[in-house]
This record gives sequence, C-alpha cells and structure tokens, in this order.
Amino acid sequence: MALIIQKYGGSSVADADKIKNVALRIAKAKAEGNNVVAVVSAMGDTTDELIHLAQQISEYPEEREFDVLLSTGEVISSTLLAMALGNLGCKAVSLTGAQAGIHTDSNYNRARILRVNTERIISELNKDNVVIVAGFQGVTSNMDITTLGRGGSDTTAVALAAGLSADMCQIYTDVEGIYTADPRLVPHTSKLDRIGYEEMLEMASYGAKVIHPRAVELGELYNVPILVASSFSDTPGTIICKEASMDMEVKNKVTGIAHDTNVAKITVVGIPDRPGVAMTIFEPLARANISVDTIVQNASTEKITDLTFTVTQDDLYKAMSIVEPVANSIGGKQCVADSTLAKVSIIGSGMQNTPGYAARMFHALSEQSINIQLITTSEIRITCIISRDSVKDAVQVLHRAFELESV
Ligand code: ADP
Ligand code: ASP
Ligand code: MG
Repeated sequence: MALIIQKYGGSSVADADKIKNVALRIAKAKAEGNNVVAVVSAMGDTTDELIHLAQQISEYPEEREFDVLLSTGEVISSTLLAMALGNLGCKAVSLTGAQAGIHTDSNYNRARILRVNTERIISELNKDNVVIVAGFQGVTSNMDITTLGRGGSDTTAVALAAGLSADMCQIYTDVEGIYTADPRLVPHTSKLDRIGYEEMLEMASYGAKVIHPRAVELGELYNVPILVASSFSDTPGTIICKEASMDMEVKNKVTGIAHDTNVAKITVVGIPDRPGVAMTIFEPLARANISVDTIVQNASTEKITDLTFTVTQDDLYKAMSIVEPVANSIGGKQCVADSTLAKVSIIGSGMQNTPGYAARMFHALSEQSINIQLITTSEIRITCIISRDSVKDAVQVLHRAFELESV
C-alpha cells in the first residue's frame, strides 16, 4: 500500500464546496488503495484576516500570541475536511501540528522544523484513517505553538513526506504546475514538466510563492520528489526533483523569471570605512533573526562610506529600530529606508559559467526604461532591484527577452 502526502493550499479549501471537492479527491486516492496524509492551509484569506485582526488590537503583537492566533486558521480547515471525508464514508481524523509531532525551534513566525515524531500519524494510519494535518505550524520543546512563515504548509507536507518515507508528496494549488513566470502576471507563460531542486529553490526564494522555499530545501535534503499540480483539474503538473545530468549538459538557457514585491532597502549614510563596521551593523540584525539580502558598500575616498542592504518589507520597521541606534553610535549621518522596491530575477542552471546573460537582462530592462538600483547574483541567478511600479513590465519584458513563451 503506497503512502501519499497531499497538500491543499488556501484557495483549494476556500469555502465549503471547495472543501467537499478536496474530500472527494482524497477519498478517491484512498479508494485506489493508498494510505493518505493530507496537509491543509487555512481557508482562502483567513491568515491575512487574522493578521489584520491582531493589528487592530496591537500594532506589533506579541509573537507567541500571534503564532497561536495564526495557527487556528489551519485548525479550522483540517477539522472541516475531516468532517467532509466522514460524510463520504471515509474515516478521517484531524491533527494539529503539535499532535502530528511537528517539532520546531522557537523562532516565532518563521520557525524551522527540527524533527517529526511520526508515532501518532502512523497509529492513525494503522486504524485505516485518512490523517488530516493542520499545516504551517509546530510546537517547541516548551509546548508553545509556532508557525513556519507565510506559505509554510508546503514545508509541513514535505517534512511529513520525509519523516514518513512517503512514496509521493503532492502539492495541490490553484495553478496547474510551475510556470516560467507567475502566470497571473505574464500572459503566455509555459508550464514546466519538471524542474531541479536547485533552480526551484532560487525561484521560490526570490519570490515564486507557488512553493515555500524551505519545502524545496527539505525535498532536496531528503530526496523527496514533489509534484505541484492543480486541485481543480487532473492535468499532470510539474515534478520538482534532482536535475538529470543529461539535461544539465544540453540546457543552456534561463528556466524562469521570479519576482518579489516584499522588498525594502536601508541605506546607512556616512559611516567610517574601517574594519569592524559591517560587523557592528549586521550582528544585531542576525541576532534579531532578520535576514539581510543584497549588501552594497560604496568604495570610499575620504574614509567615509555608505552601506546599503535589503530586508523584507515585513522586517523593515524592526531592522530600522536596530540599525538606527547602531549607526548613530559609530558616527553615521543618517539611515534612509525605501519600501517601494521589488526584485526581479532570471534563473537557470544553464547560466553557470556562460557569459552574456547579465548583459541581455540589463539590455531588456533598459529598453523599458527601467532603472536598476542594485544587482545581486548567484551561480544560477541574476537579480535586479527595481522600483515596485515597474515589476510587471520587467517580468514581462524579461520573459520575452529570454524566449520563455515556448519552452
Ligand atoms: P496555495 O494557497 O495553494 O499555497 P499560493 O497562492 O501560495 O497557493 O501559490 C500559488 C500561486 O503562486 C499561483 O496562484 C501563482 O500566482 C503564484 N506563482 C508565482 N510564481 C509562479 C510560477 N512560476 N508558477 C506557478 N505559479 C506561480
Ligand atoms: N495559511 C498560511 C499562509 O497564508 C500558510 C500557507 O498557506 O501555507 O501563509
Ligand atoms: Mg502557498
């Protein structure tokens, strides 16, 4: 009997009818002779609504309470789905993340799964139950509830697939797979049959929110192939798996374009250009668990320099409150924040060691008169930071420039 992990995202369980549709799909997989563990997200925009509610009470809610609040969205959808399966005569039990044995560190709001204790799930499967797990949440060693970061239910699913050595991990969503760019932004995107973990991780980390980056990381680490497909149709979808070496040799192109509008920039103006200054600024940010992306320091002539870096827009307030006093203490003139930015990235393992991609990207952006503020690269990615207003034009022009309409 195969063990399948299925994950259904928020839009797939957005109302009672959609939950019933998901129940039918799960009951079918079960009737075909599989053991099924289904991970669910919160219904529709529930998580956004809970965030909004908390912010009406407190502008910066206490992190522990905030995570308990957010975790309730997934608890609601998991119970409703278990009821819908019961109505179909399919035995099902819902479990919270804690009940399902998802143990995390205590970084509220962005916790990482440390281990999965699969005992309870296995005992429920042995009773012939379909197990419905509330995604996006776990529990610390102190039994406090944590959440895994926006989109984190994907990570719950892949972690369970790894922990249970499942035969398959299927992520069902509102698009039919992974496309060469966000199909909601670009007309004529192409669906990929498969994509390697490495490329998918870059896509997801740089804004392709179709899958949570940590889910891809875990998939690669534990060698779990992940299917991304639609919960509304039976079209085949995209497999995220190891890149076959043959493909790597023949492939010499950009695989996809990612964009991210959750970007802010901080510039620390007029700081001394001497050893230890970067450490003084970035150490407290790291201690506060703020992840810093692009970092640029101007070459100084007068031993005074400017330092610019990006954080997520969500972290901007916290980052500024840390950096401003530090910058003052080392004689900085001022800290300037800009939260009107976006990142646009081209990604492809075929770019490795091949010249010309950056020039082609900059050419395409310049033809649209899009100003590049910062640039960052990895071996298989080039990212430009641009104004948020231009992001749609940028993704569309790059999609055309790299001939992704017919892959
Ligand atoms: P779910 O609620 O199922 O987790 P998400 O909204 O998190 O769904 O992710 C699905 C969305 O990801 C799609 O509706 C699409 O707009 C977006 N997306 C961004 N980039 C891509 C891409 N390259 N391929 C497919 N979808 C993408
Ligand atoms: N409900 C959470 C969110 O909206 C987690 C998820 O959907 O994966 O981010
Ligand atoms: Mg998602």
